[in-house]
Amino acid sequence: MLTLTRDDVRLGCRAADWKAALAQAAEALVEAGRVSPEYGEGLLAREAQSSTYLGNGIAIPHGTPESRRYVRSTGVRVLQFPEGVAWHDGSRVSLLVTIAAQSDEHLDILRQLTHVLDREGVARTLASAKNPDDVIATLSRVPEKARLDAETLCLGLPLRDRLELALAAAARLRHIGCVEASFVAAIAGQQPVPLGQGLWLVFAASGVNSPALALATPERRLRDGAGDVAGVFCLAAHGDAHRALLERLDGLLARGDGERLIELSAEQVLSRLSGESAGAETARVRLLNAHGLHARPARELVQVARAQSVAVRVRLLEGHGEAVSATSLTQVLSLGARRGQTLVFSAEGEGASQAVSALVEVVRGGLGEPVTPLTETREESVPRVTAKEPVVAPVADEPLTAVPAAPGLAIAPAYVLRLPEFRYAERADDPARERERLDRALVGARQQLEALVQRTVGGEVSQILSIHAEMLSDPALRDASLEAMGEGASAEASWWRAIDTAARAQESLADRLLAERAADLRDVGRRVLGLLCGVEMPTPPEHPYILVADDVGPSDVARLETAKVRGLVTARGGATSHSAILARALGIAAVVGAGERVLALSSGVELIVDGENGRVVASPSPARRERTERRMVEQESLQRAAHGRRHEEARTQDGHRVEVAANLGNTAHAADAVERGAEGIGLLRTEFVFMAHPQAPDLATQIAEYSEAFDALKGRPLVARTLDVGGDKPLAYWPMPHEENPFLGLRGIRLTLTRPEVLETQLRALLTAAGSRPVRIMFPMVKDIDEFRAGKAIFDRVQAEVKATDVQLGVMIEVPSCALLAPSLAKEADFFSIGTNDLTQYTLAIDRGHPQLSAQSDALHPGVLRLIRFTVEAAHAEGRWVGVCGELGSDPQAIPVLVGLGVDELSVSSRRVPLVKARIRELTLSRARELAELALKQPTAAAVREALEAA
Ligand code: PEP
Ligand code: MG
Repeated sequence: MLTLTRDDVRLGCRAADWKAALAQAAEALVEAGRVSPEYGEGLLAREAQSSTYLGNGIAIPHGTPESRRYVRSTGVRVLQFPEGVAWHDGSRVSLLVTIAAQSDEHLDILRQLTHVLDREGVARTLASAKNPDDVIATLSRVPEKARLDAETLCLGLPLRDRLELALAAAARLRHIGCVEASFVAAIAGQQPVPLGQGLWLVFAASGVNSPALALATPERRLRDGAGDVAGVFCLAAHGDAHRALLERLDGLLARGDGERLIELSAEQVLSRLSGESAGAETARVRLLNAHGLHARPARELVQVARAQSVAVRVRLLEGHGEAVSATSLTQVLSLGARRGQTLVFSAEGEGASQAVSALVEVVRGGLGEPVTPLTETREESVPRVTAKEPVVAPVADEPLTAVPAAPGLAIAPAYVLRLPEFRYAERADDPARERERLDRALVGARQQLEALVQRTVGGEVSQILSIHAEMLSDPALRDASLEAMGEGASAEASWWRAIDTAARAQESLADRLLAERAADLRDVGRRVLGLLCGVEMPTPPEHPYILVADDVGPSDVARLETAKVRGLVTARGGATSHSAILARALGIAAVVGAGERVLALSSGVELIVDGENGRVVASPSPARRERTERRMVEQESLQRAAHGRRHEEARTQDGHRVEVAANLGNTAHAADAVERGAEGIGLLRTEFVFMAHPQAPDLATQIAEYSEAFDALKGRPLVARTLDVGGDKPLAYWPMPHEENPFLGLRGIRLTLTRPEVLETQLRALLTAAGSRPVRIMFPMVKDIDEFRAGKAIFDRVQAEVKATDVQLGVMIEVPSCALLAPSLAKEADFFSIGTNDLTQYTLAIDRGHPQLSAQSDALHPGVLRLIRFTVEAAHAEGRWVGVCGELGSDPQAIPVLVGLGVDELSVSSRRVPLVKARIRELTLSRARELAELALKQPTAAAVREALEAA
């Protein structure tokens, strides 16, 4: 990528001839510390091979491949010669863009410069520029290209109508980063527009990061009230960039090629959308040139194309899909083709076949450069699991923070699972042989899975393995592989491509559980690949161990004889990842998202895994080891005792009572919460009631839902939070404008206040369902008293009519400003409930779902604790009660601190109620206060945890 600063540009240079200009350019690079002086020879040598003049007064001198050893760091120097320099090929150069590149970066620079070469008058502008910024602006403007490639296609999805397909296509665009959630929400509110031939279009311009066109097709042609459905295009529109794509789509429809799109493979779809008709002659060839399609070979190609009797177009199989004229040097350069990539030539009419063959031949011949065949390079298509950069293993007794995934403690030696690398040739000559190899591997994989299912005790794991066996029998995977083999791909490459395409389609599905099947597909794919490549899967030790892995697939867990696995640590993943779910199913302690450093551990090193507090410690000190062993023994008996006393109140040993309630999303689970000992519902996330319906539930529906919870509670209080959507939680039927930063946008009470009628209906339903039963209502994401008063005004109006008899109106403390303004809020609100999940996110400025940072997002941070203390003091001063309903309330280390800070109620997931009660019973209020003071004094969350553990 060409990123220039003012220092990179020298204006007003003069040179007697081209050699003198080149010498100045070399000197400029030396001065910038990019190259050593010998590089100048390389520039001259390269120029002697052929001119680097591009057109429009620009030349791009760069060294020969041999001179790359003189490059210290990649960079560019731009020299302007206002009077021009006579170049050795007869042209006149006014701008030298001199490149020092350690590898093939000059291709990207070339590609970027092609847009300059196309524009009229640019030579004059560059030659006469008086300010480096003008040169930079002219060179750096990159015309935006809309994306359309294999990744934007989701073909053959098991979906049932146009709307599902539209959403799948939009979700795919979100997955690859082209759009934000608000784009998906905008698409969700649309009816697809018919294009004809069974194709439909949805589009939006809001929430678009970069323009793109996605296509989702169903498994087979559908029919609904509006007509045939063979596919839905989803366009992320941005400026003018998508126009060319729409024109290509138009062309496809004009040729009548839309009808058959549903039957085509991804590659064929891209071909049709690139402008190649079904009747065009096409031929493909892989580029052999060591440094890609740079200026010299590109010129050779263009000359051959110009000599043909028909127009030839060329595209890059791996590119954004657009075919360009093979007779235009700038357009050919704009492909940025590299060695190993595939050029696809196409032509129509008489002489088409000869034309594309001639081009294939000349590319095969090296386009005037000596080339080596590709079979010498074995290419790797499967991402390696090994870390990219050398990472340092944790030192002895160093606690690493991770995401708690499955509760429990374990001590055992580590077994670090490193997935093997699969190396294989991409291409093969004999499709029949490849097909036989694949079929053999499929049979072998099926046998392996059957054996594993037999060996596996435990419903969930064997269920997943059976799903894997079913996946192997999916004819679509085999068919897709056979098709690729027919085109010359090896069995390994075809199989992995089929798996990857299917996995990506799965990932694009809006349903999270279905999307998680993608991991299963890749897992099953690797099993077959292992057999094809003759790669042994790693064998675990005979003794009990803690499994350490980048991320684990279900069959990895099963293969590892789970009886021996005492704990699980993964470098990646969140608490909802499959590995976490499996660990919970198997009842082993697990932490996930521990970071790459754990992968640098050696197998055999002793580890402690604390699945409750989210910690891993390698080579623990004897004291830490002993403490952990003690805790393990204690935990077992504690669990038994806790369950036995779950219906009793939770009081500290000195008689201080703390209420323990349950968090619920589904009102149907209220009875279960009571059975587990909950003294009420401390947080009803009512957005789940809204999300469960295709449109906003009306008054009667809401009354029925809330009544179910009140009935189950039998007089226990219910704390309901009003609708908390917006930001990252869009409601399909409530489209929202695009927001750059949705977590800081229209969320919670801010959003509901824009639709007061929705809030009013919800309040009416809650108060009506409650009647004479205790109901506590709170507003989410409040930032100050004004928002509370605005919500309260609506509440007062409704309550004056409904007259529920046991009501309190409160505020969730989730925004730091709200905590700091608690004294003013406490004067008017009846209670506070602290949402530590969001309060932590906004206090620490860490997105709570961030894949890398979420482990650092620890609510036991002293910054958060100080806000909690301030809130509690302000509330108690006015005689109000305070609950904590975020995850922190069920964190065993945090419970004493929260009790010590004076929190009156803890609301946790139902499953945790007995243990939280038991933890409170262990305390005395004075000890809890000491621990709270200790925590508040610490400088970081890690220090808080360390201090509490040592206390
Ligand atoms: C919180 O933010 O802590 C909370 C309880 O609300 P939610 O997790 O639903 O945002
Ligand atoms: Mg919240």
